Amino acid sequence: MAYSTKKRFIAGVICPKCSRMDKLMVFSKNEVDYRECSACGFTDEVRINAVTREIKTRVNRPLESEQQHIDVITLIDN
Ligand SMILES: [Zn+2]
Repeated sequence: MAYSTKKRFIAGVICPKCSRMDKLMVFSKNEVDYRECSACGFTDEVRINAVTREIKTRVNRPLESEQQHIDVITLIDN
């Protein structure tokens, strides 16, 4: 859940259905994010897969990079 349960307009976003700008609102319902067009009633679930992928990549990074980070800290201490 990324948005408030209160509907909020997003500036500069064009509705994919009616192509009007500044008509889309975002809100959360049952821990799912939605966008809704106030002009034509278009509603769509907002998927944030890109963010999820980024977090998984960070977690799955090999331990080698962590080891290198520790080496750098040791050199500074010397
Ligand atoms: Zn619309």
